[in-house]
Amino acid sequence: MNDHLQQPANAETPEFIQVLSANAIHQKVVHLARRISADYQNERPLLIGVLKGAVIFFSDLIRQLTIPVSIDFIQLSSYGNSEASCGDVAFCSQVTSDLKDRPLLIVEDIIDTGLTMDKLVKHLWTFEPESIRVCTLIDKYERREIEFKADYVCHEVKTGFLVGYGLDYAEQYRQLPAIYELKF
Ligand code: 5GP
Ligand code: MG
Repeated sequence: MNDHLQQPANAETPEFIQVLSANAIHQKVVHLARRISADYQNERPLLIGVLKGAVIFFSDLIRQLTIPVSIDFIQLSSYGNSEASCGDVAFCSQVTSDLKDRPLLIVEDIIDTGLTMDKLVKHLWTFEPESIRVCTLIDKYERREIEFKADYVCHEVKTGFLVGYGLDYAEQYRQLPAIYELKF
């Protein structure tokens, strides 16, 4: 972590435990992109990136796809500076594409309680797309409050608060090329 981010000497930094190296992420993204390309062979899905956390995963993933796609983004409210979801999800910005009769693939950073994705999927169905699938960088399955299963999962973890590769803690650490668990 220290190679990539210099902290002020007096800053109180938590401990960073590496969960996935940049190289391991790359291998997993390539593998996932192959599956997605095969599954959508005769379609032209609209990939919807969930801002801001999925932005790095999204941009790496789409560059590994071998099928034609369109892209769009949606922004959901974050937790603020807290570590836990309150399930009270608000939309900060909407997609601008026409969703009707399109196959949609949501690209998310991490699924934890499942409340955010459940709400987003229900919201997108109101625009009458042809299909909706969900692709997530991380599936943090142990804290599910609602049954939700992503169609594509890059990496599974049980617990822990993760940062890096787009994931933040209070808007910090998104630019780290690897994924770390923060120990406070
Ligand atoms: P859920 O509604 O599934 O509990 O929460 C999903 C959202 O919470 C994710 O999109 C992400 O923004 C945030 N989140 C959940 N777990 C983590 C985590 O370990 N690290 C970070 N940075 N964000 C998380
Ligand atoms: Mg998110």
